[in-house]
Parts: sequence; structure tokens; C-alpha cells
Amino acid sequence: MKILIAGELNPDLILRNYRTFPEVGKEVLVEDVELTLGSSSAICAVGLARLGDSVTFAATVGADPHGDFCAEALRRAGVDVSLVQRRSDLKTGITVSLTSARDRALVTYPGAIAALRAEDLPDSVFAGQRHFHASAWFLQDALRPGLKNRFAAPRRAGLTTSLDVGYDPTEQWSPDLLDTLDEVDVFLPNKVEIQGITGSRDVEEGIRKLENGHTLVVGKLGEEGCIARYGRGWIRVGAFPVEVVDTTGAGDSFNAGFLHTWLRGEKLADCLRFAAACGALSTRGLGGTATQASEEEVHGYFHAQARH
Ligand code: ADP
Repeated sequence: MKILIAGELNPDLILRNYRTFPEVGKEVLVEDVELTLGSSSAICAVGLARLGDSVTFAATVGADPHGDFCAEALRRAGVDVSLVQRRSDLKTGITVSLTSARDRALVTYPGAIAALRAEDLPDSVFAGQRHFHASAWFLQDALRPGLKNRFAAPRRAGLTTSLDVGYDPTEQWSPDLLDTLDEVDVFLPNKVEIQGITGSRDVEEGIRKLENGHTLVVGKLGEEGCIARYGRGWIRVGAFPVEVVDTTGAGDSFNAGFLHTWLRGEKLADCLRFAAACGALSTRGLGGTATQASEEEVHGYFHAQARH
């Protein structure tokens, strides 16, 4: 399946297992450190490539070592990086993640992340593709105003589209998003995003508010699994049991699993189950991509579950 993904591209610097959370003016030690491929879009791209899909990635990075690191990580995963622009006037963005088994805190320098523009995605980039996915809507300052139009063009040409908004650091949860959803076939928010965008604490009520007649809304609920509206009812799939090391990027691996199966026309319940397994299996290692599953591993996991 040929899939084009546009979004942010940056490394994550993960500082793991702090003893106490840092306070201003003090120093704390952590047990482990890792520089990994970060960013919602890139983790989803690598997840799809791992599942066997053919992925092209469009993003902007600086002409610097972190930009090299990201492009190389995508290339090694088999992702086509011909639409990754290197800008010598910008620095590659980065997220520093301070994690423990209990919680995590993220600090992001957006840098080149916010520089991708709608003009960087001319109609020609959609030729030969089957699906267009975009991520991190709230971080994409330059792309956001033109993204509805960028979804509309491939849809007219017969592609399907999907969007994962990500967290809004301004917590304004701009209402423009609802207008953009008119051109989105699959919308993949998590619980906090559903609550932020719709103002509803209740997830089902929030999803009902997002209904526009054609966008399939798939809600990611962390340890509670996932949910989607089906006709007038709901399909819920619980989270699969795994030994969790780090939940970074679980939602992006879930997206990869969902799109992989949905694009093949599988039943909604099977897509949710496959996606939930991809999300769960991705949490077994540090960072978003280290333990993403292949299709074979997901089916092996289902067999092992059935035997229990
Ligand atoms: P995001 O990473 O976008 O916040 P979630 O945390 O909801 O998204 O995770 C996406 C999916 O990954 C969930 O719907 C669930 O199926 C799976 N998942 C997440 N956390 C866990 C966990 N601790 N155990 C098992 N599965 C999980």
C-alpha cells in the first residue's frame, strides 16, 4: 500500500527514570538516556514500513546532525525521504522527554517542525499514492492554514486521508480543526485531544460532537483501549496486556496498525484490534520505534493471547 505522510520530524532525547522530579535551581540524576527517532508522523511512518507498506515522508529539518539522524533513521526503516527538506537557515526540532514508570514531562523546541508549508506538497506528490496521512496539526504553524486544501486535492484524485492532531501546547484547541475534518476520512485523536477539542469530559459525547456525516473518528484511550462509532452504536476494544517500558508513540503505532488494516478493507472491529495490538507492542521498549511489530508478530501475539 503506497502512503504519503506529512508532518513533523525530530529526535527525542529520552532521560529515563529520574529519582525525584527536577526543581528549579537543583540537579537530579537519571538511570538511562537514549536519542531516538521522535515525532508522531515519523513513528507512524516507521510503523507502517515495519508492517510492509510503502511510505514516502514529507517534512522539514535543519541541515544539522539531528536532521541527519532523523533522515538516516527513516532511510534505515525503508521510508522514502525524497520529500524531506534540509533547511540550512533552521535548526531541527527536538523533544526532551523526562520519563519514569509513573509519568513523563516533555519539553519541545519546534525549530524546523513548524516550517513545512502547503506549497511543499504540490499536487504532483500525491501521484501514485493510495493514502495521505498528516500529523501534529497544532505544531504545523505554516502548514495548518492550507491543510484542508491539501487534504481536498488528493481526495478529489481518489486517495483517502487521515489526521492525528496531537496535543495543542497553547491549549486553545482551535475550532478551525472541525472545518479541516470535512476533508478527512479517518480522524485519530486520543482522549485528551477529544476532551480538549470538544470540551466534553465524556469520550462518547465528544466523539458524537465530532460527527460530520463522513469522518470516521477513532478514539485512543491509552490503557482503556480504543473506541469508534459504528452505525448508531459503538465498538470498543480493550488494551492488550504487555510489560510496558515506555508509552512514547503508542498512539502513532496504533495509527500505523489502523491504517494498515483499514486500507485493506478489513472490518472495523478487526482494524481496531490490530491497531490496539500495534499500540501495546510498541510500548515494550524505550522510544516510539524500537519494538514496533511486523504483521507476523501481531498475528503471533494474537495466537499467544488465544492460548491463554
Ligand atoms: P497516544 O500515544 O496518542 O496518547 P494512547 O496512549 O491512547 O495514544 O495509546 C494508543 C493505543 O495504544 C491505545 O488505544 C491502546 O490500544 C494502546 N496502549 C497505550 N498504552 C497502553 C498500555 N499501557 N498497555 C497496553 N496498550 C496500550
